[in-house]
Amino acid sequence: MAAEQAFVTLATNDSYARGAMVLGKSLRNHKTSKKLVVLIGPHVSDQSRAVLHKIYDDVRLVDVLDSGDTAHLAMMKRPDLGVTFTKLHCWTLTHYSKCVFMDADTLVVSNIDELFDREELSAAPDPGWPDCFNSGVFVFIPSNETYGRLLQFCTEHGSFDGGDQGVLNGFFSDWATADITKHLPFIYNMSSIAIYTYLPAFKQYGANAKVVHFLGATKPWSYTYDPRQRRVRGDVAAAAHPGFLLEWWTLYSGEVVPMLMREYGDQPFCSGCEEDAGESEPVQTLMSSAERKQRWEQGQADYMGIDSFDNIQKKLDVFLK
Ligand code: UDP
Ligand code: MN
Repeated sequence: MAAEQAFVTLATNDSYARGAMVLGKSLRNHKTSKKLVVLIGPHVSDQSRAVLHKIYDDVRLVDVLDSGDTAHLAMMKRPDLGVTFTKLHCWTLTHYSKCVFMDADTLVVSNIDELFDREELSAAPDPGWPDCFNSGVFVFIPSNETYGRLLQFCTEHGSFDGGDQGVLNGFFSDWATADITKHLPFIYNMSSIAIYTYLPAFKQYGANAKVVHFLGATKPWSYTYDPRQRRVRGDVAAAAHPGFLLEWWTLYSGEVVPMLMREYGDQPFCSGCEEDAGESEPVQTLMSSAERKQRWEQGQADYMGIDSFDNIQKKLDVFLK
């Protein structure tokens, strides 16, 4: 019987590949004893593949269109579910006895090897509809039989949300009610949406987060970063928690960009880090606490300034003392 266990992620293009590089580095930095596997699509560049090979134990090309098997047939019936079929491919990793899938837009901030004590299918609730699990982090057992049944389910029923989360919740439909041990604590898949929807809970438990998930349309790599001032530019409040976003960028610019630069050599390459740093410093305006409270309640918190994670942390420290 196969004994090895692995963390698995997926990147079908160079943007998500950057996410996978940061995720892989974050797992290594927190000293995982598990193998790291990345599934890649045919559009990932040679340079990205080379870097992924340095971080991951196993880089697997998954070309659903080219596979000529059941996945290809399923794909012909549901061409809209391309990335989803690629993600389901993780069940074919039967060389491993148990795996934890993690989206490429997640960041590990603490060792999470204990997740391998859990059974299939363990996952954390989705913050938008907690009777569904979020498919950004889940424990599964590779099996060709399950894979076949998943593909069949997918072609027959499709996905109620157009992605893998809809398919997986349809397939593992008793998750919400059958076995509470399959509910991972939210700290294993903490999305920044929780900050806005339940700030007191975030204040109470946010510091225990083990995995941060940058879910939604704006990903960490959608921003630009000034490495000299250690600042993320752009409308930071839109998607991500500034403290964790900064952590992502610190890891990316410090450990991943140098690896990418080595691969690109003289060829043009845009890292997302600003080259001409040091000019326009964002203006920080002062306002009254009432005004600030009003802006906060309207969702216009000044995340890079007065409402930054550091300041929230300071408030928390005072409060806890
Ligand atoms: N993904 C990918 N290429 C895509 C879209 C998604 O490789 O074009 C993979 C990637 O691992 C990503 C996961 O599928 O993290 C789920 O998509 P995403 O994270 O964008 O969804 P969200 O978490 O925002 O719902
Ligand atoms: Mn995601």
